[in-house]
Amino acid sequence: MIINEYGKKRLICDNCETAADKVFDSFGEASQWRKDNGWKVSKNEQGEWINLCPECAEVK
Ligand SMILES: [Zn+2]
Repeated sequence: MIINEYGKKRLICDNCETAADKVFDSFGEASQWRKDNGWKVSKNEQGEWINLCPECAEVK
C-alpha cells in the first residue's frame, strides 16, 4: 500500500508490512521508485492494489 504520512507518501509491503526506507513527494515518484527497486504491484480479487517488497515478490 501507499499511505500518506505528514504530506508525504510512504510505500509499505502489503504482505510483511515492511516500509520502504524512503518517503516520496508524490504518488508518481513512489511508483517509479517501486519499479526501480524490485517491488511488485498487482491487483487482488477485490480489485485492490497490492504492493509487495522484493522479498515477498520473489516468494510469490
Ligand atoms: Zn514484504
